[in-house]
Amino acid sequence: MPNEMTADLHTHTNCSDGTDTPQQLLAKAKVAGLTTLGLTDHDTAAGWDEAALNVPAGMRILPGAEFSTKHPAPDGTLVSVHLLGYLFDRNNAEIVAEWERMSSERSNRGTRIVENLIDADYPITLDRVREIAGRTNIGRPHIARALVEAGSVDSVGEAFDGLLNDEGAHYVALQSLSLENGIRMIDAAGGVPIIAHPRARAASSLLTEEVLESLTKHGLKGIEVRHPDHDDAARTELTGIAIDLGLIQTGSSDYHGENKVLQLGQERTPDDVVEQIVALGCTAPFTKQ
Ligand code: AMP
Ligand code: ZN
Ligand code: FE
Ligand code: FE
Repeated sequence: MPNEMTADLHTHTNCSDGTDTPQQLLAKAKVAGLTTLGLTDHDTAAGWDEAALNVPAGMRILPGAEFSTKHPAPDGTLVSVHLLGYLFDRNNAEIVAEWERMSSERSNRGTRIVENLIDADYPITLDRVREIAGRTNIGRPHIARALVEAGSVDSVGEAFDGLLNDEGAHYVALQSLSLENGIRMIDAAGGVPIIAHPRARAASSLLTEEVLESLTKHGLKGIEVRHPDHDDAARTELTGIAIDLGLIQTGSSDYHGENKVLQLGQERTPDDVVEQIVALGCTAPFTKQ
């Protein structure tokens, strides 16, 4: 049987900063012809139960999350790194505590960014941003949509490039756990830690082969090689690193519904790689009930 590419292992729902409910996302994944979907909302497993109840026939879900972590640059500044974890025990005490901390951190920080923008006379309101965020904490994509609605920017992308940029005057950083501790935490909870989009944004220059090699000693199992933010040169380089270090290579869309311009399933992971991840994780994938 040929090794097909029918898995998209990195997606978001409205349990974090995507716009589809878990049920809607699964229905779209089925239409897109995917057989495996990784459910990876930011710092939460809130979508797992709804996903488990709504798995379409012939599909399986890898429950997971995208953990917010930081890693120090050579000059000591802390740089944001996103870490995917799959098939871990979501009742693990360390993960539960970290997510409680992160949820309150996100809630304060989202409010502060909105207040900074209001103080600078951007015509948005906290109530409207809360409404857009719906069932989850305010994140920058929600603020970006409020700024589009208010006519302050033309698109979510433009808001990220300017007003909401990490370097911008209105930005407030999130306090996150270290990348090493994140990897150890997921590993200890029986999960499979894989670094998300290592060649996107600021983390790019930081995650050298040497750094990635040292992270394998803490339990790192893979890197996301194919991602919409990676150009061909990045994919070639990361493929080489993954082969050198014996790391799993994944490909995923990082779908966010209406909050990002991309197609579910536009980047994929080969089925045999999915089998490797399933074999390493302590939680079974969700299948149709
Ligand atoms: P936050 O968690 O509030 O710091 O917001 C970061 C989130 O915004 C990440 O999950 C990204 O997926 C998303 N994001 C980053 N850049 C963009 C962009 N240009 N357009 C849309 N979403 C973005
Ligand atoms: Zn996101
Ligand atoms: Fe990310
Ligand atoms: Fe993501």
